[in-house]
Amino acid sequence: MIAFIDLAAQQARIRPQLDAAVARVLAHGAYVMGPEVRDFEQRLADFCGAKLALSCANGTDALALPLMAWGIGAGDAVFCPSFTFAATPEVIPWTGATPVFVDILADTYNLDPESLEAAIEAVKAQGHLRPAAVIAVDLFGQSADYPRLAEVCRRHELKLIADSAQGFGATLGGEHPIRWADVATTSFFPAKPLGCYGDGGAVLTNDPALWDRMDSLRVHGKAVKGDRALGEYDPKYLNARIGMNSRLDTLQAAILIEKLAVFSDEIERRQVVAARYAKGLAPACLSVPTVIEGGVSTWAQYVIEHAMRDGLAAHLKSQGVPTAVYYPVPMHRQAPYAHFPQAPGGLPISDAKAATVLALPMHPYLEPDVQDRIIAALRGFNG
Ligand SMILES: *Cc1c(COP(=O)(O)O)cnc(C)c1O
Repeated sequence: MIAFIDLAAQQARIRPQLDAAVARVLAHGAYVMGPEVRDFEQRLADFCGAKLALSCANGTDALALPLMAWGIGAGDAVFCPSFTFAATPEVIPWTGATPVFVDILADTYNLDPESLEAAIEAVKAQGHLRPAAVIAVDLFGQSADYPRLAEVCRRHELKLIADSAQGFGATLGGEHPIRWADVATTSFFPAKPLGCYGDGGAVLTNDPALWDRMDSLRVHGKAVKGDRALGEYDPKYLNARIGMNSRLDTLQAAILIEKLAVFSDEIERRQVVAARYAKGLAPACLSVPTVIEGGVSTWAQYVIEHAMRDGLAAHLKSQGVPTAVYYPVPMHRQAPYAHFPQAPGGLPISDAKAATVLALPMHPYLEPDVQDRIIAALRGFNG
């Protein structure tokens, strides 16, 4: 069976650096908030041109932390796509706020600025909820249309979060999403383009006061600069707000420093793999993904569409080619989320895409001959 994502190939490439990094942490023993954590945060911020990065326990908490830090809660509406991983809408009811589902663009699968605008106007007209924030998702690795989304958010005075769990490293016109968004978040789940060896996440921001509040929230609301005179007490035991425990392990930070060092090269390799798929599939009239103009995707997933998707997946499986469906049921069709409001006119694109999308094996170390076998298997489907 061909690998869907080959983490072993990456590990083999940087194994000596990883062993040395882990050994350094075992030697100093600062397993929580050790020196590698701050070092990694600085490198991560530098990588995408953000002032600051705040690491945390996973990409879900990374979405919750800014919402909590802004005081978003009951009576607030937070707009997000339905065609995404559960974590995107999940954090909204955590705070007491209400998710409002917005449709996506048919070509990029990312938030549709017109559906967003219509949803905001509808919420305002109803008058029950106060529009507060938007969570855009960089689905499958490519940047959402931030210039247009940020313009809508500015006009309606909404905070903008870029959920870059899949798209960390993606650019639009050479700029990362944090150029437009108030915060960008990411996940270091192992299968993400920049993953660690467990769970991890981060929030990027250019706002030092917001960073301080999120730093407090990730450690049980510990008192931070500006909260009050700390006197002689350990600030760990002075709690200025209700927070949580959401820290990135020092071991994971040490591993991520080594993975970040090869990340740019891996993004380039992913472009080569994506281009080879496009060249092999387009002439056979198979759909290939569209990238927003000026965008560079991290290709977290390489997603094609087919009217006989399930038959194609079964055919590929019989040829030793694994595939996956992201996402078979959009969030507004899932029981716990079905009662939340939607953009006027519903979410026809999200519903339609769920039936046709199919993700192919994609990683930076996919060898050309293996990829050609995948392409041949695809071309051999008589559906
Ligand atoms: C993976 C993912 C998350 C959550 O990340 P975890 O680290 O698993 O909590 C959030 N949003 C999207 C779009 C994701 O793909």
